[in-house]
Amino acid sequence: MTICYLCGKEIEGNVSRDHVPPKAIYPTDLRPEIRGQLITLPTHKSCNNSYKDDEDYFVQSWGSTAIDTPVGKALFEDMKRTAKHSQGQRLAEMIYDEFDPMPGGIALPSHLIQKSIDPNKSRRIILKITRGLFSYVTSRILTNDCGFSYQLHDATGKPSDLLKFMAEGKSRGVYPQAFDYTYHDCTEFPEIAHLHLFGMHFWQKLTVVAVVHDSDCTCEVCSKSKLG
Ligand SMILES: [Zn+2]
Ligand SMILES: [Zn+2]
Repeated sequence: MTICYLCGKEIEGNVSRDHVPPKAIYPTDLRPEIRGQLITLPTHKSCNNSYKDDEDYFVQSWGSTAIDTPVGKALFEDMKRTAKHSQGQRLAEMIYDEFDPMPGGIALPSHLIQKSIDPNKSRRIILKITRGLFSYVTSRILTNDCGFSYQLHDATGKPSDLLKFMAEGKSRGVYPQAFDYTYHDCTEFPEIAHLHLFGMHFWQKLTVVAVVHDSDCTCEVCSKSKLG
């Protein structure tokens, strides 16, 4: 029996393979190098498709902050190509508007650019990637309403202790320059044994630490969210 990790239900008939993380994170130019190595998980086609627009947004919005890295530069070429289509153009305009070089009317040094992100779309995709990585490393499924939170760090500023702790973990990315991740279960710490930590590094630029509660967690947060 094949289970879709996105809805938790059995897949009858056609199985779609979903990339974890989204394939678009890897620029087209380097796909030949990594062909056949990326993680995929079985899903329903409809479940997979329901994330497409938010994934496009995520890759372009977050990726547009990484154009000073080698992989980010290659990704920018992909963005320019998609911006030639009308739908891609709308997305490009939306992302352009997220850049604010003069927040509050003050000009910042050119390496410090203020940019906003859509919190709902971003959370939805980080949660999806986290659930995919969780399924991949534990062979279990996390529901969409699992206890979840994440923090985003850019390359500026002092790394937190949690960030340093995650950075010390084993690098698990297929092509770490584009996407790398570390994983830590917390079984050795009794008071947080129900948590799983994922450190993710996108395009050598943006770092996310995501915390998920185990699928059978009964902590207060999870009991509340599962009651509705
Ligand atoms: Zn499904
Ligand atoms: Zn919990």
